[in-house]
Amino acid sequence: MSADYPGHGLHPDTLAVGQGYDPADAWGAAKPPIVLTSTFVYPSAQAAKDFHRAFFDGATEGEQGGPIPDGFIYSRLGHPNLSMVEARMSALDRAEDTAGFNSGMSAISTLALAFLRPGDSMIYSRPIYSGSDNLLNTVLAPNFGVHVEGVIDACDEIAVRAAAEAALARGPIALFMMESPANPTAAIVDIALVRRIADEIGARQGKRPLVSVDNTFLGPLLQNPLEHGADLTVTSLTKYCGGHSDLLAGSISGSAELIGRIKALRMILGNHMEPFTAWLMLRSMESLAVRTQRACTNALTVATFLRAHPKVARVTYLGFLAEDSAARAVYERQCGGAGSTFSFALHGGEAEAFRFLDQLKILKLAVSLGGSETLICHPATTTHYNIPRERREASGITDGTMRLSVGLEHPDDLIAEMTRGLEAV
Ligand SMILES: *Cc1c(COP(=O)(O)O)cnc(C)c1O
Repeated sequence: MSADYPGHGLHPDTLAVGQGYDPADAWGAAKPPIVLTSTFVYPSAQAAKDFHRAFFDGATEGEQGGPIPDGFIYSRLGHPNLSMVEARMSALDRAEDTAGFNSGMSAISTLALAFLRPGDSMIYSRPIYSGSDNLLNTVLAPNFGVHVEGVIDACDEIAVRAAAEAALARGPIALFMMESPANPTAAIVDIALVRRIADEIGARQGKRPLVSVDNTFLGPLLQNPLEHGADLTVTSLTKYCGGHSDLLAGSISGSAELIGRIKALRMILGNHMEPFTAWLMLRSMESLAVRTQRACTNALTVATFLRAHPKVARVTYLGFLAEDSAARAVYERQCGGAGSTFSFALHGGEAEAFRFLDQLKILKLAVSLGGSETLICHPATTTHYNIPRERREASGITDGTMRLSVGLEHPDDLIAEMTRGLEAV
């Protein structure tokens, strides 16, 4: 975490509304324009050279003297709406810098390509988002010679150490890729513990592994991984930050040095966030604080209803973590709230789950989460369909598990519909 993150001293609610856009930059327009252009015109040949010196060499002074003004070159290298989103997200993540991407997976893939080399080992928390799982287990391990090692309970020091030793035996550890809370089981990672172990491994192997945390499930207002020792925070902005299920986007926040390396690779891959999506994102972020608060209170109401229902076998909602558990202590230290996505299971398996799901109308049967509407899905046959059963069940996703992302509807309507659905099971 940096004390100089942009907007330091202001509340996140305030930063989410205004950070990153100055009306003086756009004819005084109260709201940012969408800058739809692929390229930018230079005032002179010397200015063009100076912009390139600034972009590639970090030059701040023009060859003919005087400071080099801010300027853009070509939209794959950066564009105004992208800069605005990145500034706003840096402020919310309390980071020196942020890189914006055209999806969450695009951000995660770029992070992996930037910091993993053939022969390296890496450790990931299980379960991890299925796209990340596929990236690691079906691309990086078999095709790029990266040794991947999973850890199921990353609040348990013994388990994290065992995974680290197994990984270290196969090659230097370059990265701890964590996701907390996990999708869809809400398993928590003790970020400070992982950082401590990464420091120890760094002392042994001569180079400290980086720690990245996928913060999608809680989002920037409920959890700040950088404050707990992570080097990089990854967010699928498609979810809570976008908040209306109408776009795909992602971000990575961290130190200027690490984000600089990620942006250099993004320029080559060409997977940045484009102007219209960036503009929608700026608009969505303005309501992030109120949406987060309302979704959290709705989720507590719905989770409490489900927990008390005789047909429900279990509810994995963060607010219900056992008082004396290690996960509870980490939750209270690390999270500002329980979020609004959790899973639950009915007694029985796939057949019972399907009978329930087919009764629902207000609750939409769809993958994804974090939108204004309530979404429900059956992970084993959808989001985690192509994760082998053994790996899926070992990390707590059974044939009866359903994932619920509680939205902004009135909770009484959600509960009335779920009550009818449960009667039909
Ligand atoms: C959705 C999601 C992603 C991937 O984001 P996309 O924007 O769909 O590419 C990554 N991690 C988690 C935890 C997610 O929920």
